Amino acid sequence: MKWMEKHPFGATKDGQEMHIYVMENEAGMSAAVSEYGATLVYLLVPDKDGYRRDVVLGYNDVTGYENGGEYFGATVGRHANRIAGSSVEINGEVYKLDQNEASNNLHSGFNSYNKRVWQVVEKDKHFITFAIISPDGDQGFPGKAVVKVTYELTEDNTLKITYYGKADKDTIFNMTNHSYFNLNGHENGDILEHIVTVDSDAYTRNDEASIPTGEVVDVTGTPMDFRTPKKLGEEIDSDYEATRISGGYDNNWVLKNNGKFAKVAQATGDMSKIVMEVYTDLPGIQIYTGNFLNKEEGKFGTVYDKRSAVCFETQYFPDGIHHDNFPNTILKAGEEYYTTTAYKFLTAE
Ligand code: BGC
Repeated sequence: MKWMEKHPFGATKDGQEMHIYVMENEAGMSAAVSEYGATLVYLLVPDKDGYRRDVVLGYNDVTGYENGGEYFGATVGRHANRIAGSSVEINGEVYKLDQNEASNNLHSGFNSYNKRVWQVVEKDKHFITFAIISPDGDQGFPGKAVVKVTYELTEDNTLKITYYGKADKDTIFNMTNHSYFNLNGHENGDILEHIVTVDSDAYTRNDEASIPTGEVVDVTGTPMDFRTPKKLGEEIDSDYEATRISGGYDNNWVLKNNGKFAKVAQATGDMSKIVMEVYTDLPGIQIYTGNFLNKEEGKFGTVYDKRSAVCFETQYFPDGIHHDNFPNTILKAGEEYYTTTAYKFLTAE
């Protein structure tokens, strides 16, 4: 590993000086993360010609992240994705969460983790660990929790993200990273020509409000079938229920990794030939094609529009708390939540 450097990243509205921490490996990859939100700010990856492209959307400084509503590069917790009715019942007690998407809860609600200042608790040349203490009742969730996220850059061009959580009451946990990838480079238009594979036979069906119905639907013969490589744009505008409801892809695919860390998806940028492999031990992945992006001004004045990136949000299934047939999202008091997701980069011919 070459180095880890710390650079200024501007000040928050209340005057706290923020930084980015930049890791660089010998293979030419570089990852910058900020203590503001434990956010992935940029990711430089060598393309087929060895030219480095920044493959994630983002902002120039902390002010962009304070103002932004898109979760660029965000660490999302305590519970990523949606919870129906913004209410959870644990051990017979009902806990009310923020209603920040109609009557439902999205990415845990207001005062989200990606808008908080995280502490750097450990770092070395190739990794950094951020932590926050989330108090009892934070965003409505029961239990005081210690939450940590570690970003590690390895010599085989892998960005590995590890999540840790522990609470003093039974609560729910489902964390993810919300990076928006454009493997041609963040400034290079839409992702419709990206070629994607997902090792999944089924997805969880949503209602019109993007809340899971509980049904698990076979992908065979549908636009959701990515078992063999397919362009993201090929069937994105189909009049199929899932793509119609979301105006593109924005669904949870059921993974076949059986709780073991394994490769679950892959994407290739058509211009750069940068290949990203996604690995996780989690049971689901939300693939979101940036359908709601609308002329968002980001890094170096770049304007990110609809479908200019794709998110691969590894996760427990959305609204798992309300569906007995979905994997459990309850974290018992004193138990440790520990999951790993990795994005590995290489190039294709
Ligand atoms: C959701 C999208 C949402 C996006 C930004 C994704 O995880 O699935 O529906 O627009 O996050 O909030």
